[in-house]
Amino acid sequence: MSKIPYRFFLTEDQMPTQWYNLRADMKELPDPMLNPQTGKPATEEDLYPVFCKELAHQEMDNTTRYVDIPEGILEMYRIYRPSPLIRAYNLEKELGTPAKIYYKFEGNNTSGSHKLNSAIAQAYYAKEQGLTSLTTETGAGQWGTALAEACAYYHIPLTVYMVKGSYNQKPFRKAIIQTFGGEVIPSPSNTTAAGRAILAQNPDTTGSLGCAISEAVEKAVTTEGCRYVLGSVLNQVLLHQSIIGLEAKKAMEILDEYPDIVIGCAGGGSNLGGLIAPFMQDKLLGKANPRFIAVEPASCPSLTRGKYAYDFCDTGKITPMARMYTLGCGFIPSPNHAGGLRYHGMSPILSKLYHDGYMEAVSVEQTRVFEAATLFARVETILPAPESSHAIRAAIDEALKCKETGEAKTILFGLTGTGYFDMTAYESFREGTMSDYIPTDEDLQRGFDGLPKIPGIQE
Ligand SMILES: *Cc1c(COP(=O)(O)O)cnc(C)c1O
Repeated sequence: MSKIPYRFFLTEDQMPTQWYNLRADMKELPDPMLNPQTGKPATEEDLYPVFCKELAHQEMDNTTRYVDIPEGILEMYRIYRPSPLIRAYNLEKELGTPAKIYYKFEGNNTSGSHKLNSAIAQAYYAKEQGLTSLTTETGAGQWGTALAEACAYYHIPLTVYMVKGSYNQKPFRKAIIQTFGGEVIPSPSNTTAAGRAILAQNPDTTGSLGCAISEAVEKAVTTEGCRYVLGSVLNQVLLHQSIIGLEAKKAMEILDEYPDIVIGCAGGGSNLGGLIAPFMQDKLLGKANPRFIAVEPASCPSLTRGKYAYDFCDTGKITPMARMYTLGCGFIPSPNHAGGLRYHGMSPILSKLYHDGYMEAVSVEQTRVFEAATLFARVETILPAPESSHAIRAAIDEALKCKETGEAKTILFGLTGTGYFDMTAYESFREGTMSDYIPTDEDLQRGFDGLPKIPGIQE
């Protein structure tokens, strides 16, 4: 191919029909999940009350390298996939860098993010198992929207507990979820015992993610045929998100390209884990040696300042405990933090790879993130989500290093979504009222103090 096009799409026939399970090629596996009741490694059966059977299997399966994507899932993937691989010619020119910058854009669907890739799989398997409803929580709203789209497609009733503050501030997120048929309940609510208890103490509270999770979980365990689903962190979610990396790698192969650096933003790690998966396979097998960079907010720095310890995956403390980089499941980022990526922990798979030196991590302050977002929007014409803009920031920083050294590196980053519902944050950046808050060591210590004590493993 003489000139690389601005936007490159695989054809529908070239779309991957299998997901890739990175665990099958890891030299050392993540530590096993522990059952919170017994402190012993969790079995697949232990997970059945929480996850549907096929997803419990995927969660525990460390050996199957490629997993067939069921036709019923491919059918919905084809509506918005393959997603484009874009050569950021305009950004390169603006920066005056010799680097070649590519990004994989996952915002081309109504949910506006990559979360739909796993929402579809989770809703599909729930339907296959004959479950009759799903429930989840949503903070900023992307996960709730993605799941509502998937549940509409597979005809499964969905209840979304939405943090009351977001419910009031982002009325259009709520309206989208409702348009797709999801029931949205502002949390705390009087529909659950957990919500009623919180309301009794503090009737005017704007809610929290932890509280919304507790309500969603209570709803799941007290409703026949209902399960609670989670949109990030879990091994199964990384498996589903591998579609991003598989498509990107195939497209780059056709273009005769290969990344020197792969960059992704990291909240719970699902888009990053999915994007890097096949490139990390090359690294693990000694076929190539790209660098991987996880980018997280300085206000929620799980990889760069967290502890590699056993912790709960959810604030409600019902999921098994996983060993991961964590700030403690009670950690709440400062209220001025506008950019998403608020999750306390990090995917156990990515945590292990980072711990073993296969991946790097950087943290960035939100004003630098919005500076990158604004520049990117103006030259590339896509309004990026604040989360995605963490990856943009790091990609720009790497491209500027290339400008200094004169190296023409190939950089690939994940543009996970669009930011139409984040205009309040964009506005505060433009008006100069946005500030940065970096937690002190004392702030972080409070989160570490809440880590679970597990006799013989973690005292
Ligand atoms: C949820 C979200 C993220 C972060 O989640 P990960 O699991 O870390 O990928 C990033 N970008 C967008 C647009 C999101 O909605």
